[in-house]
Parts: sequence; C-alpha cells; structure tokens
Amino acid sequence: MTEAAARPTRFDNVIGGATRPATSGATLPSIDPSTGVDWAAIPRSGGPDVDLAVAAARTAFDTRWRSLRAAERGRHLRRLADAIDEHAGELAALETRDNGRIISETTTFDLPACSEMLRYFAGAADKISGDTVEVGPTSFNFTRREAIGVVGVIVPWNAPLSIACAKLGAALAAGNTVVLKPAEQASCSLLRLGQVAVEAGLPDGVINVVAGLGEEAGDALVTHPGVGRITFTGSTETAQVVAARAAGTLKPLHFELGGKSPNIVFADADLDLAAVGVSTMSVFTGNAGQTCIAGSRILIESSIFDDMVDRISKEAANVVLGAPMDPTTTMGPIVSAEQFDRVTGYIDLGPTEGAAMVCGGGRGAGLFAPGSPLAGGYYVEPTLFTSSRPDLRVCQEEIFGPVTVAIPFRDEADAVRIANGTRYGLAAGVWTRDLARAHRLIRDLQVGSVWVNTYRRIHWALPFGGTKASGFGRDSGWESILENTQLKTAWIDLP
Ligand code: NAD
Repeated sequence: MTEAAARPTRFDNVIGGATRPATSGATLPSIDPSTGVDWAAIPRSGGPDVDLAVAAARTAFDTRWRSLRAAERGRHLRRLADAIDEHAGELAALETRDNGRIISETTTFDLPACSEMLRYFAGAADKISGDTVEVGPTSFNFTRREAIGVVGVIVPWNAPLSIACAKLGAALAAGNTVVLKPAEQASCSLLRLGQVAVEAGLPDGVINVVAGLGEEAGDALVTHPGVGRITFTGSTETAQVVAARAAGTLKPLHFELGGKSPNIVFADADLDLAAVGVSTMSVFTGNAGQTCIAGSRILIESSIFDDMVDRISKEAANVVLGAPMDPTTTMGPIVSAEQFDRVTGYIDLGPTEGAAMVCGGGRGAGLFAPGSPLAGGYYVEPTLFTSSRPDLRVCQEEIFGPVTVAIPFRDEADAVRIANGTRYGLAAGVWTRDLARAHRLIRDLQVGSVWVNTYRRIHWALPFGGTKASGFGRDSGWESILENTQLKTAWIDLP
C-alpha cells in the first residue's frame, strides 16, 4: 500500500521499452471503486499509439525475439516472473486500488499465480515441436510450429494481471511479441507491469502496453494489419464486434467470454461443503461475483431445496463487505458506476419477473455509517433469489455481480437440461458423492470446465475456456501455446 501510494498517480504507455503518454496527450481517469474517487490518470490512446506499439513489437520480433534460442526466451520469462515476485506487493495493491478486488485475493492468489504461470510457460518455450509425417519413400515431410508475429492481447478489468500473464506467457513462449490493451476501468497494474518487464531486461518492444478505450485503442489493435492474432477476454457482445471488425484482416481470434455457470447440488452431496462452495467460493466473495465463472445459478435437488437455500443465506450473512485494502474484508465493491447500475438493475428486475429475493438487495451508501468514505463506493450486498422458472432473465443473463439464483430440479436429467439451457457454456460445478453420476455430468454438461465437489479452481497447466457464447480457444495449458503458433508443412523430394 505504502509502495503504491508513494508512486505518482499517473501511468503511461510502455512502447518499445520507453514510457510515453498518448500522442494526443489525452488521458482518462481511473476511479477507485471503493470510494468513487478519481485516483489516477491513464493514457487515452488511439490509432497512432497502437501504430507505434505494433511497429515496436514487429521490430522486436524481427530483430531479436524470433531468432533467440527458445531456452533463452524461457530465461527471459523466468526473469520476468522473478521481477513480478519482487514487485508483488506493489502490483497487488495497484490492482486492488484500481478494480476493488480484495487484497487478500490479489496477494495470496493473483500475484503468486502470475509468476508461477510465467515459469510454466518459460519451461514450455523449448519444448515446442512439429511432427514428421510418413507420406511415401520419395519424400521427407514434416511440420514446423512457428511464431505468428505480433499478438494483440485485450483483457477485461476484473483480474487484469492474472488474465494478462496467462496470455503473455503463452504468446511469448511461442516466440511472438505482444501489444497489450488493458480495460479502461483498470489499466494501472498492467501499465506498471509493462515497466517491470522493461526493468527486468526483457528486450525492448517484446511487451508493449497501450491503454485506452475499447472502441478507440482496442479497435485500432483489432483492425491493424500488422497484428497477426487477437486473444480477447471480455463480454460476448464485445467479442461479436471484435469478430466483425477483425474480418477485414482475417486474423485468428481467441475468445474467453461471459458465463451463466451452474452449480448443481444433489441430495447425496456433503451439504456443508456445498453450501460454502456454491456461495462464498463461487459468487459472493471472489471479486464480488465479477468473475466469468461466477456460479450465478444454483441448481438444487428438490428434496433438499429449502435446506440448501437456508444454508446459502447463512453463508451470505457471514460475508464481510468493506474496503478492499482491509485484509479482513471478504467482499469488495463493484468495479464502476456503470457496472453497479447494471448489477442493481438485475436485482430490481428479479422480483418484477417473479423471482423471490431470499437475502441481500442492499446497495450503496446505506450499507455504511454516515460519513464513511465507502459511502461513495459501488457496494452491493450478496443477493440470493429463488425461482422455479429457469427462463427468467435473472436465470439466463450474465449479471457479473454477487447475485445468484437457486432453481430446483427433479432428477439428473432435469438438472442437465436446466444447466445446458442458456446460451453460455463456460463452467459448471457438480456436488455429489456418486462417482458414476459425476462422470455422467462431466460428459453431458456443455461447458469448458467442470468442477466436482469444488469450484473456481484454475491452474495454468489446465486449459481454460468456453463453448457456445462463452467463446472458443483456450488460455493456459499446452493448447494455449499451440494456439499461439502457426503450422507450416514442408515437403522435400528424395529422388
Ligand atoms: P468488455 O467486453 O466490455 O471489455 C473487455 C475488453 O475489450 C476491454 O479491454 C475493452 O476496452 C475492450 N473493448 C471494448 N470494446 C472494444 C472494441 N470495440 N474493440 C476492441 N476492444 C474492445 O468486458 P468487461 O466489461 O471489461 O469485462 C466483463 C466481461 O468479461 C464479462 O462478460 C465476463 O464474463 C468476461 N470475462 C471472461 C473471462 C473468461 O476467461 N471467460 C474472464 C474475465 C471476464
């Protein structure tokens, strides 16, 4: 906190190893969501800044990065991981200040994950290989996995550092250079990460960070002819715009998008474990429900419905809403006024379409003592609805806040039908002691990740991504490295 507070509250782009403001000089305010106060200025970059960043990334690719020995690329990634560890306190505090993610999460989960995942990718850098293919006796045929060139990385505001590090690690290990566009609501930790990379000795231009609005800097990156691939995490609606705008240059796209992920609780489950798993672990604490994998639907077997709803409300009552920098806080604010309006809009919508509010619903200044600085923050209470109508909007649409809805089901087939009955397909949790049932659900759920008797467990070695409107392609794991390469086929005649 002190380290971060001592830094100037102005952050600049990092392009070609140098920090620089937007060429226009324009800035955007960064708002502290715990108080509603403008605390930092970030560049409002546009096309000219993206042009400079892409040129720097291309130069670094052509003159340095692509011709480095793979093991040397790995060593650079390890040095970056070490530098992140050295600056972990500062980076965690910046991210918490900027997006309201609680300090206990940024320090114990995000920052250690960032450096560990970079070490995973560092180890992978010299293990990328093609195949030899037996076609016939008169030719030698093989494939090469080659770097694409400049990769455009676009990330959302909810977990900037860890999402960016997964994408950077895979892209750089595969031999690409990167232009990173953070979300305008939370850019500071990534602008600082760009400087840390330079200080760690990463060659100039290998990581460039350009902040600005999505429709300006983001669009310039998506449409840039010098960018060979876009990896994007954000909303389904923005992805549709990105896909249309990228069509002109036919770039490969990777989309990690929204979700309406179900937690499915069977009567034979360990209900104490499940009550924590489907509430605090899934949707109430972790980033105030602002995670793509938030368990925003809880499907409960009818025979235990009332009991589980009661248990979940008790868990909600134990949530400590407060300042994200306070280590005793278990749930912080919503990221912005706009997102606050969206979340509270859904809370108000639920009862009008027939959902019953069991607990929560409170928001804003009324949650704190008069005069508290937090009264200006974007706080929302953990909120639980019940409904037997899976077609309601609160059961179908991504709310992206600490709001969930409990829905009863009759039997396994009914649970699978309801679980698969949204446009999304990101993740699901299954709570049961029946191993055969767990396997059947893993098979039948149309999602990218299934957790059994746990939830929200992500690891850099495990591919992560969605199906349906939750996207395509994968972050993390070996697949994410392969997706950052292009395949070349060679045929040598052997006359
Ligand atoms: P968003 O789609 O509004 O913005 C994401 C990023 O896209 C930001 O950097 C933004 O500036 C940029 N952007 C916006 N318009 C653009 C355009 N026209 N061209 C290029 N870039 C543009 O999403 P958000 O509100 O920042 O984040 C919330 C969403 O992200 C939720 O839907 C959530 O589910 C999703 N998300 C998904 C994952 C995942 O891994 N699946 C993880 C975190 C968040």
